[in-house]
Amino acid sequence: MKKIKSSRMKVLVLNSGSSSVKYQLFNGSNKKSLVQGKISNIGTDEAEIWLKRDKGNAVKFTKSILNHELAIRQILDSLLNKKTGFIKDVSEIFAVGHRVVHGGEFFSQPTIITDEVLARIEECSQLAPLHNPAQIKGIQACQKLLQGVPEVAVFDTAFHQTIHRETYLYGIPYAYYEKYKIRRYGFHGTSHYYVARQASKLDGRPIQKLKIITCHLGNGSSLAAVKHGKCIDTSMGFTPLEGLIMGTRSGDIDCSAVFYLMRQENLTIDQADSILNKESGLKGLSNNSNDMLKIIEHSKKGDEQSQVAFDAFCYRIKKYVGAYTAAMNGLDVLVFTAGIGENSPPVRAKVCDELDFLGIKLSNLVNNQTIGVEKMISKDESPVKVWVIPTNEELVIAEQTLNVIYSDVKQEG
Ligand code: AMP
Repeated sequence: MKKIKSSRMKVLVLNSGSSSVKYQLFNGSNKKSLVQGKISNIGTDEAEIWLKRDKGNAVKFTKSILNHELAIRQILDSLLNKKTGFIKDVSEIFAVGHRVVHGGEFFSQPTIITDEVLARIEECSQLAPLHNPAQIKGIQACQKLLQGVPEVAVFDTAFHQTIHRETYLYGIPYAYYEKYKIRRYGFHGTSHYYVARQASKLDGRPIQKLKIITCHLGNGSSLAAVKHGKCIDTSMGFTPLEGLIMGTRSGDIDCSAVFYLMRQENLTIDQADSILNKESGLKGLSNNSNDMLKIIEHSKKGDEQSQVAFDAFCYRIKKYVGAYTAAMNGLDVLVFTAGIGENSPPVRAKVCDELDFLGIKLSNLVNNQTIGVEKMISKDESPVKVWVIPTNEELVIAEQTLNVIYSDVKQEG
């Protein structure tokens, strides 16, 4: 392991999807974000490149980028750009932190990527076929382009590994858990961890003393019950399909309804899978859109389907808030985050409506004024504090990447 020169130490965070790569470069010494960007439509002649420097305007252009390796090469080129870049040489990239969606039961901590770790991540691809293979491509591209730079995998599932057996097991024959590891894993762990930690900082009470429910409400949505700093339950399950009604995902549904539908419509497994993951949720219920902004717009104009989609979305969240309050024997802090949670006062108001018996008293005035910023939106006298906290998964990935590498250096002596 090379000697660390903190003034020149940068951490690159990568989030690779099937046709996109998001990235952010952090200054390792103060964890300040220097630049963030996204390349989408990878695999086409018209890949979209977007980047925004700290204190700068966003830049957007298109270019042919045919695979993940070329996308990461493009990212490195822009970081190295003599006029507008942030590094003079790739050696300034001290480490790369990768978001990895599924770590199965193998990983409860961020982990330095070795051949053995990569093989385990590959094994977990069966559990997250849309995500892990893309993230493996990102890891392999970095292994090639940034030889010798340590890479760390930060798992979405890791924060939920503290959930107890009676909570993560499904009521199916135990042999299927043993044979196929069918159980609740949970996702969005890095986001739930960040906002729970931030809520305790803002609230001024140690996380070890708090019972927190975090609501990550975006295109994919999940709740987590965080008791005394540890996740004890979360709404997504074996896959990110379970739990809340989402943009295009159904969330909880009676499995027999799916069997019935398959028989009635003569559907294949893949077709049923696609309906539940891509045609359901807000999109399916509203007959219109997966976009909460549009759902609200259409509801205001009197569109009943959009109204029912909005109501169903909010009701499901409220139901989980009640369940998790019971699971924790109380609630101190409720947090809203992600695209909808951070930006939608109507959703937050509807979820918190008539929860005064739980001690949730929202300030309508502050709620309506709060969009995309850290703010307490409950009344001062509310026993449960309600916060809006913009999530920052990339920062957590950068921090955890550095921590893992520092502890590895220490262990080496
Ligand atoms: P995410 O997956 O976290 O990027 O969140 C995407 C979701 O956030 C989409 O459903 C957007 O419609 C929703 N969203 C973003 N801005 C707003 C807003 N101002 N009001 C309601 N929903 C919003």
